Amino acid sequence: MEEIYKELEKIVGPEYVSNQPEERFIYSRDPGTMEPCNPDFVVMPNSTEEVQKIVILANRKEVPIVPMGGGLVLSGLTRPLKGGIVLDMKRMNRILEVNETSRYAVVEAGASQGMLQAHLKKHHPSLKHSIPDSPPIATMAGNVLIHGSGHLSHAGGFHSEMLNGLEAVLPTGEIVRLGSCSISPYWFSRAPLPDLAGLFVGWAGTTGVVTKLAIRLFPNRPFNDVGIFVVEDPELVPDVIHRVTGVGVGEDVTAWMSPKPLWARGFQHININYSADTKEELIWKRNLIRSSVLKYINDKIGGFMPLPPPMKKMFLEAPASALVRFADVRKGGGFEYVGAIMPIELFPKAYRMGEEIGERYDAAYSTGARVMGLGHCMMFFYAYAFNRADASDVERAQRALEETNQVALEMGGIPWKAEAPAQKQIIQRMDPNTYGLMNRLRSLLDPKGIMNPGNWEVD
Ligand SMILES: Cc1cc2nc3c(=O)[nH]c(=O)nc-3n(C[C@H](O)[C@H](O)[C@H](O)COP(=O)(O)OP(=O)(O)OC[C@H]3O[C@@H](n4cnc5c(N)ncnc54)[C@H](O)[C@@H]3O)c2cc1C
Repeated sequence: MEEIYKELEKIVGPEYVSNQPEERFIYSRDPGTMEPCNPDFVVMPNSTEEVQKIVILANRKEVPIVPMGGGLVLSGLTRPLKGGIVLDMKRMNRILEVNETSRYAVVEAGASQGMLQAHLKKHHPSLKHSIPDSPPIATMAGNVLIHGSGHLSHAGGFHSEMLNGLEAVLPTGEIVRLGSCSISPYWFSRAPLPDLAGLFVGWAGTTGVVTKLAIRLFPNRPFNDVGIFVVEDPELVPDVIHRVTGVGVGEDVTAWMSPKPLWARGFQHININYSADTKEELIWKRNLIRSSVLKYINDKIGGFMPLPPPMKKMFLEAPASALVRFADVRKGGGFEYVGAIMPIELFPKAYRMGEEIGERYDAAYSTGARVMGLGHCMMFFYAYAFNRADASDVERAQRALEETNQVALEMGGIPWKAEAPAQKQIIQRMDPNTYGLMNRLRSLLDPKGIMNPGNWEVD
């Protein structure tokens, strides 16, 4: 271990490697319910070449490596289940290029959501990227690689669909570029090549370390608005979503249902965020959205909620600070959610299941859904806040999460960014040949099994 430490020190410098108990403690856990696992080393590289040297060393010594961005995935995916090195990518945070004409940005893997947002606001105000509601320190790579979603997901789908290409260090140490950047100086697309970038998306860091990526940007229009359509009956929500997304002028369509505040209890709120270049265009879009749900307004079973300006401002924020506040509602810093990806028609079932589990475990819970693309599917979330200093609160949240994962799968959904135990549940239901292919690819890429071991594995 001493020898490995010295070699790591040579690669990144003494300030950026640690085997001290305080660092090992901090990097052993995340805000969720998963048990802590101690790393042996925490290392912060500053370049692709340093990442490459660390990977080659880990390969030679057969030491596990866990790539980490903001460490905010909440489902424990950056805990080193088998010890080894946590590779904290936050020093690699440069924004390398913004192409205004073809609307993409190339960033290093540790660049955070907040950094790209601030950079665009200052240097390219006509452009924006799709921002998740996670705290701004969450990284671009960490989010894209788990199929994240955000404020432009109605317009552009999952963030992984906005990925134009990437650079990665393979578990055996080679540096690869995937997408148009493998051939051209431009990072404009993954098409028309065989889509090898998929080897890194959804794999929870088990196939290599992504060091750079290109992400699509979108017009940042000066006029923004949000409408909140409210109905009582959850059975109506799939049709409301279908109608609203059918007119295709929104940027983000989300539903939220929460037992608190009390005025919100029992209602299904569907937020439709949209933007425009002129006031006239904004009004035109507002009318079009209204016309899509006019039937419900005329039948007096649904309507738009009047929004006083401070409330409207809150619903226009990206990231939404209300969510971060809910995450700490119990104090003590515990927060985790199951986000299950599923078809829109499962909404009523998913809602009832969330309400039932949340009440039964007496949990501080909130449910909601973000629509992907033009209503092609949704990420339905069941969020639980808990106090980490209160063991019974943690246990209740843990059991509620486990059950939610199980029921989401039984319903026909798939838990997103699943915890290691939930990955096993997914594998049990997976076509065995699909799992066989996953394993073959993984042993081809990572013959010594050093990349985030314990994830996407049965044992
Ligand atoms: C209040 C709150 C709200 C949230 N809202 C949203 C939301 O709206 N949308 C959303 O998508 N998420 C949301 N999240 C979940 C999560 O915070 C984000 O998805 C976040 O972007 C994850 O990024 P990260 O940098 O923290 O990833 P990490 O937790 O560091 O990593 C995630 C996974 O990616 C792997 N990984 C990270 N970097 C690399 C790399 N360079 N190479 C290879 N593998 C890598 C890790 O090993 C891990 O498996 C929310 C979280 C909170 C706390």
